[in-house]
Amino acid sequence: MISRSTRVRASIGAWFDARAAFPAAGQAGQIDAIRLLPFLAIHLGCAGILWVGVSPTAIAVAAGLYVVRMFAITAFYHRYFSHKAFQTGRGAQLLFALLGATAAQRGPLWWASHHRHHHVHADEVEDSHSALRHGMWRSHIGWFMAPRNFGTRSELVKSLARYPELAFLDRFDALVPILLCAALYAAGACAESHAPALHTSGRQLLVWGFCVSTVALYHATFSINSLAHRFGWRRYATRDSSRNNAWLALLTFGEGWHNNHHHYPAAARQGFYWWEIDVTYYGIKMLEGLGVVWDVRDVPDAVRDARPRETSAA
Ligand SMILES: [Zn+2]
Ligand SMILES: [Zn+2]
Repeated sequence: MISRSTRVRASIGAWFDARAAFPAAGQAGQIDAIRLLPFLAIHLGCAGILWVGVSPTAIAVAAGLYVVRMFAITAFYHRYFSHKAFQTGRGAQLLFALLGATAAQRGPLWWASHHRHHHVHADEVEDSHSALRHGMWRSHIGWFMAPRNFGTRSELVKSLARYPELAFLDRFDALVPILLCAALYAAGACAESHAPALHTSGRQLLVWGFCVSTVALYHATFSINSLAHRFGWRRYATRDSSRNNAWLALLTFGEGWHNNHHHYPAAARQGFYWWEIDVTYYGIKMLEGLGVVWDVRDVPDAVRDARPRETSAA
């Protein structure tokens, strides 16, 4: 029998070292409140704008970090690490894993393993974040608050776990976000004393650049799990309830073409036609032009043009 104090210590330890947590235990709906305190603190930190004020510099930093980190999550955490939709070198793999890690959405192996599990069991009872099976709350944020989903599903990411640098990022997943916070504070403090025309400060860049930007990034990303399986239209009769949603696609740089994606997850593009805006795909093609990535997988015409067999609007 594990004592309560041991469990509390393990939950706090897991803030810094993912291996400190107890292995997959507990009921599906159970929540580890202690381990979630940092997640709640980032949300509460947004209220700091009342004290630190706002400046064009702060907004530009928050927006810039949203763009860079959304791209790292969608192009690399999702399309590269989870689906191998293109190839890249080890240096670029690490660079984008680091950028993705700044989004505080856990490490690349955890993210990819749970996402691969979603594709295997999409909208079945086993799907941890199925809005259809478990409701909106669980699909949006409840699923990763459950201790049973805290661990990386190692059996699904064996090829990625071969890289010690990725395994390190996955184990110490708080390290990179903490470094980003420190860098933002230092940059703001430096600007305050050396470039007063920027009208910013360490505290202001911390609140806007980390808290506000990260919370926006959180809920845009999570909306693919919750809203993109509920609202939108279905081009393809996939065995799940995924939908295409233009608004979500704009917000998430292309991930909102979620029915397309479930139809053919191997492709680097999720907007299958030119009018389906997919900013992440444009970025991947740019990196391909620069020689940073290669073997970018497209969707075969026959797969893309498969006659729609089902149309339903929510
Ligand atoms: Zn899905
Ligand atoms: Zn996917």
